[in-house]
Amino acid sequence: MSGFVTRFAPSPTGLLHLGHGFSAMTAWEAAKSAGGTCLLRIEDTDATRVRPEYEAAIYEDLAWLGLTWPEPVWRQSDRLDVYAAALDRLGRLGLTYPCRCTRADIRAAVAAPQEGAGPGSAVYPGTCRGRVLAEAGQGEAIRLDLSRALALLDGPALTWTETGPAHAGTHALDPGAMRREIGDVVLARKDIGAAAYHLSVVVDDAAQGITHVVRGEDLLDATPIHRLLQALLELPVPVWHHHALVRDAGGKRLAKRDDARAIREYRKAGLTPEDVRRLAHTLRADEPR
Ligand code: GLU
Repeated sequence: MSGFVTRFAPSPTGLLHLGHGFSAMTAWEAAKSAGGTCLLRIEDTDATRVRPEYEAAIYEDLAWLGLTWPEPVWRQSDRLDVYAAALDRLGRLGLTYPCRCTRADIRAAVAAPQEGAGPGSAVYPGTCRGRVLAEAGQGEAIRLDLSRALALLDGPALTWTETGPAHAGTHALDPGAMRREIGDVVLARKDIGAAAYHLSVVVDDAAQGITHVVRGEDLLDATPIHRLLQALLELPVPVWHHHALVRDAGGKRLAKRDDARAIREYRKAGLTPEDVRRLAHTLRADEPR
């Protein structure tokens, strides 16, 4: 067995569709050809959307596709204390602040021309920046102060390796682009103690010894923030491979609610796992559209 460890990390908030199947198969094939391992990880921190029957369906559909994984499978809802410790560490570095803005507040602020980020941008305008953690109320989000984080790491650029078809090469963190396009991301929600996606992924990839992150191109933009969090938390840095997405005939990427493309629908219709594999490969676009 080589040192190659990757993972497939679905959220049990819907049925796996063809795109998930393709992502899983890509990760498993990468592990197989490297003589390594592919883990399965259940990303179930969004308690409002997670359902146990979807988790059961993940195991069933992946097994039907012929994939196997080492046990035990990690479930992120079992690890909230670990994410809370990582969040504390960033807090002690002075890099987090509580935010009580609603989506409507943020939309209104970014629509104001002097706020910088521009209309329609999802970049948080920084309204709550400067508030202290001690005044965080129930239900407030905890955000990363991106500018402070970048300033703390002032030094040689942070780099990473990408091997996916559309973006292969060495990439370096671009602080200006991050400020413009990413901004102060949410790391956690105070009431449920749950970490948001970026923090839990980075913490778990390190804890599980993931050497290669294989995932869809829809997550490409998350990579700089993951690389930054790894530097701040002094975690090892994997190689990333963002694969092309499976799209419908109109070129739109598949959504969770696209139940017609659910793997179990194909199965019910009498397709074999091999048919599903072929179909996913046919629908995949090698270039992002
Ligand atoms: N849980 C994420 C999703 O369902 C994937 C996380 C990742 O691969 O980094 O899209």
